[in-house]
Amino acid sequence: MVQAKPAYKHSRDSRKRIGGPAHLVVRRSRIDSEGCYTTVPIKKGTLVVEYAGLRLTIKQADALYDDHPRTYLFGLTDGKHVIDGEGVAAFINHSCDPNCEADEIKGRVWIVAARDIGAEEELTYDYNLYDGELDDPSLCFCNAQNCRGSMYSEKELAKRARGLRRRKKTRKSANR
Ligand SMILES: [Zn+2]
Repeated sequence: MVQAKPAYKHSRDSRKRIGGPAHLVVRRSRIDSEGCYTTVPIKKGTLVVEYAGLRLTIKQADALYDDHPRTYLFGLTDGKHVIDGEGVAAFINHSCDPNCEADEIKGRVWIVAARDIGAEEELTYDYNLYDGELDDPSLCFCNAQNCRGSMYSEKELAKRARGLRRRKKTRKSANR
């Protein structure tokens, strides 16, 4: 294992197009400034795109992104590693009523269609954020009827309400 910190800092623009299927495109979104759309229909259960990126230890990620309010870190279920999202999957917005879900399969994270998705739909999944700073509410603007008002997971919202969080970086998760 290489122990050195990766010598890079991404801007959102540099993530825009690194591989990914041709039918996934980044466009302006009502949920956030930009989002990921499909130009073709996608069947429920399809592995839409991998949440690709550099695999970092949580320590490395914390050092890299200490002062960054916004990151693209996806926490793996081993509790020790994150994927620092690059490419089109990092542009998929959160929704409380999403059409995709994130699944960890053999240490890789896939965005999977949770229902049949029509052409020109924006792709979304539930970020289930955790380990955020207490002063960062990560407000949600998805406009779904069941919007919980925040991108944190239900469990995390309960924890935050109890004020028990240590100060760590926010990460997305599949299973929390
Ligand atoms: Zn919402």
